[in-house]
This record gives sequence, structure tokens and C-alpha cells, in this order.
Amino acid sequence: MGKFKLKLSFLIVCMTIMVVLATSGVSIWSSYQSFNEILMEHFMQDTYVKGSSAIKDGYLEDSMKEDITLEPFLEQVASNEKIIPFSLFLKKVFVPIVLVIAIVVVLAIWLALKIVRPLNELSTMIEAGENGQGKEHIADWYDEAKLLKKNVQNMMICAESKITDLTDQLNLDSLTGIPNRRIMDQTLHELIINKVPHSVILIDLDDFKSINDTYGHTVGDEVLKAFAHHMQLNMEEQGMCFRYGGEEFMIILPSRSIDEAVELAESLRVKQALQETACGRPVTMSAGITAFTPNVQSPNQLIEIADHALYKAKQSGRNCLCVVRNMRQMIIKS
Ligand code: GH3
Ligand code: MG
Ligand code: MG
Repeated sequence: MGKFKLKLSFLIVCMTIMVVLATSGVSIWSSYQSFNEILMEHFMQDTYVKGSSAIKDGYLEDSMKEDITLEPFLEQVASNEKIIPFSLFLKKVFVPIVLVIAIVVVLAIWLALKIVRPLNELSTMIEAGENGQGKEHIADWYDEAKLLKKNVQNMMICAESKITDLTDQLNLDSLTGIPNRRIMDQTLHELIINKVPHSVILIDLDDFKSINDTYGHTVGDEVLKAFAHHMQLNMEEQGMCFRYGGEEFMIILPSRSIDEAVELAESLRVKQALQETACGRPVTMSAGITAFTPNVQSPNQLIEIADHALYKAKQSGRNCLCVVRNMRQMIIKS
């Protein structure tokens, strides 16, 4: 019973057929009755004299012989009501009415399908999750469909912008606006499980605590935002930039060799050292660089190697790079 779904088109057609059948049944019956009455009146006028005299003669003759009632003669007259054969009635009245009913039913089906069409199209559009692209093709030829279409469109636009907002909140870092750690892990995971060659650069801004302590946290925030922007500009299409956490950032370079990663990181390091900042003094960076090898099983493994390289870069005096190539590390410094 729960699986039974009443279709609107089916309901409209059924209701129309029922109304048409009921009204036409009543009208057929009443027209049959009145048809007979009219014909009876004419028949009675013609046969009245003949009939009545015959009854009278028969009655008088019979009543003379024995005690006979008038009833059989009256029945004889009454039986004259069946003067119209039903086949004639069918041909002249019933068939035209049935034809009209058939036309009405066809029209009802056509109208029902036309009413239901925009609803079906709207539900298909919602099901397909179309962002209102195919909406112009929806046949909103009546007011209610037009209103429904407009409201569905508004609802979809609203839902879409909310989903975009929520996705941004989920994937982007609120301070710098670049992708966050969550999406970084996801990206690395996909590259590793698909065994796509890639390199990573783990960056840490040098002596950042002193920036906050000297110029304040707000200035520190501005420095972080500017660095994120600068990093993205430098990478262009070559790599994806993420905020790893605090003053640490990660660049993932799919299908790039470790040498290309070193080249890009070195270019960024040199530019950053010369970059004007919100605090008025250069803020340098250190980086640990490594590349995916088939023995790497998880993002954490790769991050650990890059973090170890970064630690070595810090130990080597900051504002430099440390590269881990086939488990052998190498410091690059200007
Ligand atoms: P090192 O060169 O060894 O990296 O020194 P550091 O001072 O950069 O490193 P440390 O870990 O001692 O300090 C990191 C600082 O970064 C401390 C913290 O207050 C600051 N920091 C982390 N996140 C934010 C942030 O979102 N905004 C601001 N303004 N500061 C932040
Ligand atoms: Mg740090
Ligand atoms: Mg730091």
C-alpha cells in the first residue's frame, strides 16, 4: 500500500471520466424517456379514436357476455409505449453521445498530461541537481507552474550558494583564503593511492613569534595573508598551495620532479626575502622539500620527511631550503 503512488494525471483523467460518464448516463436516460413521451403523444393522437372505440366495443361486447374488467385493455394501450426500438435509439442518440464522451476523454488525457508535464520536468531537474540551466525548457504555461518553477529556482540558487559557502568554510583557511590542511591531506592521499609522481615543499616563516611580539598579532595576520597571496602568485598553475597550520604552508606539485620543486622553492625564497611586508621588515622563509617514491604509503609519511627536512633547514640558520632526495638530505643556502 505504501508503494502505491497516485499520479496527478491519472487522478484528473479518472475524475473527468467519472463526471462525464455520470452526467451522460443521466442525460441519455432522461432523453430516452422524454423522446418516448413526445412520440407517445403523437401516437396517441392518431390512434386515440381507433383505440378507444376498439376498447369500448370489445369491453361492451365482452361485458355483455360475462364479467370482464377494463384492465387488459388498458395494458394493451400501455404496451404501446414500447413503440421506439432500442436499436434505433442507440443509433440516433447513444452513438453521438458516446462519440462526444470519447472526444472529452481524449481532451481530458491531453490536458492532464499537459498540466503534469511542468511538474515532471521540475522534479527531473531537481533530481539531476541542475543549477537552473535547463529551466528555460520547462513548459510553465499556467500560473501555478510558473510560480512553482520560480520558487524552485530561487530555492536551488539559495541552496547552491549555501553549499558553496559551507564547502569554502570546510576547505578554505579563514584567515588566508587558501585551501586548508583538510583538503591538503585529501589531495596528498589521492596522489599517493593513485601513485601519481609529485613533489612537496613544506614552508615555515622564520622567527614569526618575534613579528607578533614586536608588531602585534594583527600585523602578524597581515603578514601571513600577504605571504599566502605571494606564494599563490608565484606558483601559478604549477602547484597547489595550502595553509598547513600557524605560520606553516605546503605546496604540492603534481607530476613535478624534485629538481623543479627546488627551483620553484628557491625562486619563492629569494623573492620573499626581498618582499615588502606589513611590519616593514623582511620576513624570510625556510623550506623542506621531498618527492613521492613508491615506498611512500600515506600523506603523513611524506609530510614527516618534509618536516624533517624543514627542521634541518632551521638548524642550518633559516632562510634556506633542505632537500631530501632518496633519503639523503642536502641543504641549499644563498
Ligand atoms: P622559527 O623560525 O623556528 O619557525 O620560529 P617561529 O617564531 O616562527 O616559530 P614558533 O613556533 O616559535 O612561533 C610561531 C608563531 O606563529 C607563534 C604563533 O603565535 C604565531 N602564529 C601562529 N598562527 C598565527 C596566526 O594565525 N596569526 C598570527 N598573527 N600569528 C600566528
Ligand atoms: Mg612553525
Ligand atoms: Mg616559524
